[in-house]
Amino acid sequence: MKKCPVMTTAAGTPVADNQNSLTAGPRGPVLMHDYQLMEKMAQFNRERAPERVVHAKGAGAHGVLTIRKDLARYTRAKLFARSGNTCPMFARFSTVAGESGSADTARDPRGFSLKFYTEEGNWDLVGNNTPVFFVRDALKFSDFIHSQKRDPATGLRDNRMQWDYWSLSPESLHQVTTLFSDRGIPATLRHMNGYSSHTYSLWNAAGERHWVKWHFKTMQGIKTLTNEGAANIAGLDLDFHRRDLHEAIRRGDFPRWRVQVQLMPERDADTYRIHPFDLTKVWPHRDYPVVEVGEFVLNRNPENYYAEVEQAAFEPGNMPPGIGASPDKVLQARLLSYPDAHRYRIGVNYAALPINRPLSPVHTYHRDGQGRFDSNGGGAVNYEPNSFGGPVQDPGAREPPWRLDGDAGHYAPRDEPGGCDDYSQAGDLYRLMSEEQRAQLIGNLLTPLRTVPRAIQVRQLGHFYKADPEYGARVAAGLGIPVEEFSGRVPA
Ligand code: NDP
Repeated sequence: MKKCPVMTTAAGTPVADNQNSLTAGPRGPVLMHDYQLMEKMAQFNRERAPERVVHAKGAGAHGVLTIRKDLARYTRAKLFARSGNTCPMFARFSTVAGESGSADTARDPRGFSLKFYTEEGNWDLVGNNTPVFFVRDALKFSDFIHSQKRDPATGLRDNRMQWDYWSLSPESLHQVTTLFSDRGIPATLRHMNGYSSHTYSLWNAAGERHWVKWHFKTMQGIKTLTNEGAANIAGLDLDFHRRDLHEAIRRGDFPRWRVQVQLMPERDADTYRIHPFDLTKVWPHRDYPVVEVGEFVLNRNPENYYAEVEQAAFEPGNMPPGIGASPDKVLQARLLSYPDAHRYRIGVNYAALPINRPLSPVHTYHRDGQGRFDSNGGGAVNYEPNSFGGPVQDPGAREPPWRLDGDAGHYAPRDEPGGCDDYSQAGDLYRLMSEEQRAQLIGNLLTPLRTVPRAIQVRQLGHFYKADPEYGARVAAGLGIPVEEFSGRVPA
């Protein structure tokens, strides 16, 4: 039999007894100087990092991205310089609203976070399994999430709060339609697409910029669950999706996704009929066709869930030269809020943890802070500029300037010339569904809508109706509300 190592305290001193506390006599009280007991209890009390406020329940795996078609024309990022390039990566998938122990098969968007360890530093894409989102301004995000979480009085999830918010926020309709469609509950994490949702950018050495949306198409095919199927699974196994991903990888059935981009020349953004930085909108494929870039495979399970999945810290701001952000208001806010959340949740030195640190060298002047577990820069110079050979900036990595204009102010999209269209794309989605998918959508909507006050039902029906009269009429019929009540039509 293998000889077991000696158990120690955190300081490495041998532990003599891990079963019986140090007591004054066999029946006496515990003595304070039982250091092992104190250390164990104190460590245990601190075992949890605060759970993520959103995307708390997740699963992750390691993999490899392979480039099949270079994007050298569009970006100077070395990752995309030639076909055949590969890059190690880590993916984390999650539900949004549920807590860290909640059911995997809830109807909820899924987070689709990817970290690519490129030779020029980490590139993170923090997307979802939906191409759009409920809001287009981060100022609304915390209110929106409050409405989807628990009622402050009862501690219960509450359809009334959810639909009150959605019915007062017409821009959410496109994502609401996606969420209550068949795709709103993926069968497994392997059977769903991912999308950057945000518009990002690529820029090349000549300073040319393209706006870009990323798509990750499951090569396992889309598979979904009905409400009933999902509820049955949740009753048996809260961790169904996490287990499925882990077991598939363990048996060598590695899930794969095709990587695609939509590319928009920088100047098109000025005239494109759809606001290209509005997170509630897609770019129709007929306007900007998807271009195949490559594929990724997830082929290695984490060895330690906490170290790799719980401590994984994704940041939309992690972008090697040649990849950039866009004026998308929600993306702009996430550039701050993600690292801010990591500093709060896992500490200021989170980026140096094994799962987060890049494979390329890191040379910063950051020093100190809680949990500084590496050499902290040793004796190297800790300010810049300096005369002692410290790291220096690389002007070649400078992104070409953005042309921005406008007067500072709070601009409501609905007040823009021509207003803003919150309905066409939700209607397009409804119209592309088969009859079976439409019936499922209506049924999925009716389940929660039947439980909310009539005033909220009527307000929301008006939105469905504007997206497509049939869509509104079918939900209304299920609720027993006459179309005239929300359509603006005069009753006959
Ligand atoms: P297209 O016909 O060119 O594209 C439609 C896309 O919709 C498909 O490629 C597919 O994307 C996706 N799709 C197909 N069936 C469903 C479904 N039942 N539920 C959700 N998505 C589905 O039309 P448009 O580009 O004009 O898009 C029409 C609508 O399709 C949009 O309003 C949007 O709601 C939805 N959509 C559009 C996407 C885009 O990037 N343009 C992406 C996803 C959805 P995929 O291959 O990604 O599965």
